[in-house]
Amino acid sequence: MRYVHFVLAAEAALSPALAGSRWGLLDGETVHPLADAPWRLPEALRAQPGAEPALRLGELQLLAPAKPRKIVCVGRNYAEHAAELGNDVPPEPLLFLKPSSSLLAPGAAVVHPALSQRVDHEAELAVVIGPVVHGGRFLSEEEAERCVFGYTIANDVTARDLQKSDGQWSRAKGFDTFCPLGPWLDSGFDRAGRGVRCLVNGELRQNGNTAQMIFSVPRILSHISQAMRLEPGDLILTGTPAGVGPVLPGDVMVVEIDGLGSLHSPVIDEAALRVRG
Ligand code: ZN
Repeated sequence: MRYVHFVLAAEAALSPALAGSRWGLLDGETVHPLADAPWRLPEALRAQPGAEPALRLGELQLLAPAKPRKIVCVGRNYAEHAAELGNDVPPEPLLFLKPSSSLLAPGAAVVHPALSQRVDHEAELAVVIGPVVHGGRFLSEEEAERCVFGYTIANDVTARDLQKSDGQWSRAKGFDTFCPLGPWLDSGFDRAGRGVRCLVNGELRQNGNTAQMIFSVPRILSHISQAMRLEPGDLILTGTPAGVGPVLPGDVMVVEIDGLGSLHSPVIDEAALRVRG
């Protein structure tokens, strides 16, 4: 099943602040509204159209398809990527956080901050957590697997120069708009052996495969749960393959994952925002 998180485009145009976000079940170009986020609904209610009239995908403005209380990310989970930045492969998953305020809707613009001279793309498979077992803590890999609700596509946008100069990564990874996500949440996706790519202005920059991950999804989730509880709606970014590189205002990033879709994000200059005040 594929789920979209959206506002009605007409409502959003009238009053973005008042437009209520909703979830729907995607069926081709048709969206069947749901009563709540799919992971909060009983299985029978999330898998079939409700009583409400169906909507057309074209009349919706899509939002990031997750409502995380935390975004937990894994650094250096692909050996070639660790090597390209001069780092060793870590002995266990290396965790960091992005703020939920960095989330960005599919198709929306990443803002290139004036504070950074080098902003990089990072194509990543993202996991959305559903109902959890054992309170989401101290999970075995098998238990962690049962907490996966579905998958989507993420771009872990990074101010590489600030990542190096700050030492710790919160600012470099945490700017507003630095976590594009979408376009939908897929609960039936099979993550094994999937191509993970990033194209910039149509040019292939990253071309990896989930089979190259050092730590598997269940291993990552189990590892996180030893420190902090996994909660429904949480978002986990699983690391990026080799080929990261800079983008500039005017560029368009596209992250593709085989079987999942593609996530488009144009880049704009922060000055454009400041002029608007
Ligand atoms: Zn990353």
